[in-house]
Amino acid sequence: MSKANLIDGKAIAASVRSEISARAARLLAETGKRPGLAVVLAGEDPASQVYVRNKGLAAEACGFHSVKHTLPADTSEASLLALVEQLNEDDTIHGILVQLPLPGHIDETKVLRLIRPEKDVDGFHPVNVGLLATGARDTALVPCTPAGSLVLLKRTLQTPLAGLNAVVIGRSNIVGKPMAALLLAESCTVTIAHSRTKDLPEVVRSADIVVAAVGRPEMVRGSWIKPGATVIDVGINRVPNPAKGEGATKLVGDVAFAEAAEVAGAITPVPGGVGPMTIAMLMANTLTAARRQLGVAPEP
Ligand code: NDP
Repeated sequence: MSKANLIDGKAIAASVRSEISARAARLLAETGKRPGLAVVLAGEDPASQVYVRNKGLAAEACGFHSVKHTLPADTSEASLLALVEQLNEDDTIHGILVQLPLPGHIDETKVLRLIRPEKDVDGFHPVNVGLLATGARDTALVPCTPAGSLVLLKRTLQTPLAGLNAVVIGRSNIVGKPMAALLLAESCTVTIAHSRTKDLPEVVRSADIVVAAVGRPEMVRGSWIKPGATVIDVGINRVPNPAKGEGATKLVGDVAFAEAAEVAGAITPVPGGVGPMTIAMLMANTLTAARRQLGVAPEP
């Protein structure tokens, strides 16, 4: 029997989404406008198709105006850039998401930088990265996965995060770095660990909060966790599941869940932890972007 509290990302994401639906309904009543989200998919990557479909469904469920643009895998970079420009100019669209990865012949950086920062609901544009890094979170759009991880932490801990030791394992632009910036903004003492970190287990043992965003199945062991720590497992890794027969697979995180749950105070499962929060925060960013573009005062 595990001792840790399970952080139910599915339930928390559902409650965030229902708050967003209510706020979108209020916006519609106040302004006659719905938040508009455009999702762009280039190519036929099966995982991307699922993500794009789920994002569109979530937007509709929140009462948003939702559009999807599907381009063939051999679409030219110029066509994709032209589509982004068109969406930048479209007043009914407040959020633009270009699903990654893009086909190899397209320059991802060029495409992402063309999205107007105020419509960049993924939070990847250097303007949004800079706003977050300089502590101007209220004017930035923050990447969805770290933003969702912070919501999980706040709803779990229910006490100020200030002064806690946080260790973020991973330094990617989409998870590790923005996660560290968010925790720093909460006045945590933040350590960012990565593949060159010396004695990672010892570094992790100092953490009141561990965020694992590595992409290595069950790398973080239970013996690394400080008793009572809160563990957020961002990793999503598909591994063989021989118990279910030959060729069967299952999803596991970057943390050895069963071991860590014996020691931690609270822990996210995989699946059902951080994953559902990512789409919920995309909806939150789209609503925020719409309110800003419509010139509606921030909600209290
Ligand atoms: P990246 O591959 O971009 O980054 C991985 C990071 O982990 C790098 O900084 C790397 O260090 C570090 N790392 C790799 N090996 C080790 C090691 N042995 N010890 C310590 N650090 C190590 O991954 P992402 O940030 O994009 O994603 C991380 C995980 O989160 C993946 O499993 C991904 O699937 C998942 N994910 C989940 C999402 C969700 O919605 N739940 C959304 C996005 C990602 P270095 O920089 O030195 O190479």
